[in-house]
Amino acid sequence: MSELQVRKVVAAYDGAPVVHGVTFTVPSGQLAAVLGPSGSGKSTLMRVIAGLHSPLEGAIVVGDRVLTGPRVEVPPERRRIGLVPQDAALFPHLDARANVAFGLPRAERAGSRPDELLTMVGLEGLGSRMPGELSGGQRHRVALARALAPQPDVILLDEPFSALDASLRAEVRAQVRQVLRRTRTTAVLVTHDQDEALSMADIVAVLDGGRLVQVGSPTEIYESPHSRWLAQFVGGA
Ligand code: ADP
Ligand code: MG
Repeated sequence: MSELQVRKVVAAYDGAPVVHGVTFTVPSGQLAAVLGPSGSGKSTLMRVIAGLHSPLEGAIVVGDRVLTGPRVEVPPERRRIGLVPQDAALFPHLDARANVAFGLPRAERAGSRPDELLTMVGLEGLGSRMPGELSGGQRHRVALARALAPQPDVILLDEPFSALDASLRAEVRAQVRQVLRRTRTTAVLVTHDQDEALSMADIVAVLDGGRLVQVGSPTEIYESPHSRWLAQFVGGA
């Protein structure tokens, strides 16, 4: 379990900043939602945290490890951060068990760990199903099991439910929430859906145009939005 600190992160493409000095902290074992409209810099920020995009300024700290900072850039594979990208695709030619095993060190792939991980996400006994034989919600949970396999300190979920049918979404959200709580993994969930952020997260960080508009509990964000824009965006006031 580790706290995640995002400190004054500025990130750009070809010198043009799209994230303008974002700061927030996710306490150990909690789930933060980064909420914002399309193009607000959410995915860029996740890539900075994961070490896939170097920021112009700022720091990323997990526990007492500085991962990004002045003259520090720990490579992604040594960060102990799991990223489930927006298009979290499974390998279509591998069954669920082999997809999960892919997240494990080679020595653990053949043992019972892949099945234990599938059980953890509520997919007991489905290890030999191919991705095409699983529902959208089940495929998503396989991707989550794969990301949790190496026991990351922090897991980043980029728009994890956007590809799911509305009818499945509530159930899968609840299941994912439960897995994250049970494994006490510090997590950041990116979404443009205010209901998702407010219903799932311990803390909500709102981004607009690459700027942090407000950070607070779901109740604070909903009941005391600091701006008219945010009030309209979350549908409160
Ligand atoms: P979000 O995930 O909130 O939709 P992004 O982080 O993907 O936002 O994008 C933030 C801004 O950066 C947008 O204006 C987008 O067009 C721009 N952007 C994203 N990726 C790239 C890229 N690879 N090259 C140039 N600009 C990009
Ligand atoms: Mg995005």
